[in-house]
Amino acid sequence: MKGMSYKKVKRSIDEVEFNNTFQILPSVFYSHVQPSFLPDPYLISVSENVAHLLGFTPEHFQESLAIDLFTGNKIHPASKPIAAVYSGHQFGHWAGQLGDGRAILLGDVESEHGKWEIQLKGSGLTPYSRQGDGRAVLRSSIREFLCSEAMEALGIPTTRALSLIGSKDPVYRETVETAAVVTRIAPTFIRFGSFEHWYYKQDIEHLKILADHVIEHFYPEFKDTENPYKSLLSDVVKRTAELIAQWQAVGFMHGVMNTDNMSILGLTLDYGPFGFMDGFNQGHICNHSDDQGRYAYTNQPYIGQWNCRVLAQALLPLIGTVEEAQEIIAEYIPAYRGKYDSLMHAKLGLEEKYPEDQKLLDLLLEILQASRVDYTLFFRRLSDLKHDDFETNQPIRDLFADRLAFDDWSVQYRKRLKLENSDDVKRKSAMNQVNPKYILRNYLVQIAIEKAQNDDFSEVNKLLKILEKPFDEQEEYNDYAKLPPDWGTDLNISCSS
Ligand code: AMP
Ligand code: MG
Repeated sequence: MKGMSYKKVKRSIDEVEFNNTFQILPSVFYSHVQPSFLPDPYLISVSENVAHLLGFTPEHFQESLAIDLFTGNKIHPASKPIAAVYSGHQFGHWAGQLGDGRAILLGDVESEHGKWEIQLKGSGLTPYSRQGDGRAVLRSSIREFLCSEAMEALGIPTTRALSLIGSKDPVYRETVETAAVVTRIAPTFIRFGSFEHWYYKQDIEHLKILADHVIEHFYPEFKDTENPYKSLLSDVVKRTAELIAQWQAVGFMHGVMNTDNMSILGLTLDYGPFGFMDGFNQGHICNHSDDQGRYAYTNQPYIGQWNCRVLAQALLPLIGTVEEAQEIIAEYIPAYRGKYDSLMHAKLGLEEKYPEDQKLLDLLLEILQASRVDYTLFFRRLSDLKHDDFETNQPIRDLFADRLAFDDWSVQYRKRLKLENSDDVKRKSAMNQVNPKYILRNYLVQIAIEKAQNDDFSEVNKLLKILEKPFDEQEEYNDYAKLPPDWGTDLNISCSS
């Protein structure tokens, strides 16, 4: 949460009590596993915010015990590690059983900030690893670690990342790389695919057990509603719609919106070939393997609904009729539009809403697209526009190939500002709280990765600090808010992580 400061409770890591709440579920939901030994692990980065959320202090990560626990080299006496089973639709097709192929759940811990499941990602083979090796490479682990915390700081629901630990252990992808483990936390990692798993087996008993578990622990307010499963679906639909509206507004592309990567809590989950929009392009595809552009920026809202439909189908035996499920799915588009509309009004510094605003926004997106204007820089600079001073257009129009297109649009925008008697100073301050100055641009993370691959972790840690305060000026880091260099635009990222 933005600006939240955590009460610093000191507790040493060996004092932490692990629970195994997930294992209330019958044993068919998971397999007991032992993390594989990771040779000579070293700490690359730790998120102080997440450490405090769990009631640890980051200093504990200087101890070898923490390194051992969060690579899986040592198991806490109370922890019974497991990998969970799930299935899913990948790129629109039923993929059958998947499961935690390289994630291991250590258990959950309780702190004054709630209950958190702790999962190691990249900690070795599980019964669900299929052809994989159960490992994650340093490159993709840095990406997940930084983006989780960047999204949180942007106010976007996400799983969190506690620590990033590396090793020289070789991992074979297109080339030889090295291994890393990200320790991530969330109230739960249960996915849409966890429900699909039982539905496609037509095992309604276990489907119901899972839904009851999720309601009991994460949606207790629905226990006493007329049909708790309908309430659950409706809330997940709303959360998903709103999540994706937040992605669109900030220009985030997930890259692999398969149903096994969709959180039942509406969190951003499983960071792979994600990307933030540089030059605005509705059709941008950030995932190198997504030939058809199924997960292109412009498609994300529809895919979100498609995924909700898959979840609805899986919950159908508990919900009742198809009509009832369809009614709930129909709530997606209004929820998405409502949230996106509010977010875009805020990005434009508009407090009031008028029907004609849609035209103003559509026209803006059109000219941003035509000139491939940097999405983040545009909104940040727009806050400097003064309603009665055309000269203030200059730094903004400089972002456009077609400068006149911006000047024309700015006439409409000024009219609109006048309509609500917008105050320049107030508007600027409000806009700068919703339009980030710093985002995790692909080229920035690429530089951090290359340094880390040469054992220099300073850039990873610097980026973490900068991205924890994306709305603050942090003038000493102005270079991190600049346009990407030529080599760093339109990088697309492979799935082999
Ligand atoms: P993803 O596309 O990363 O969400 O992964 C899809 C499925 O493949 C999940 O079940 C993952 O656990 C599994 N998976 C991905 N990478 C690996 C790996 N290196 N080893 C084992 N399983 C993996
Ligand atoms: Mg996944």
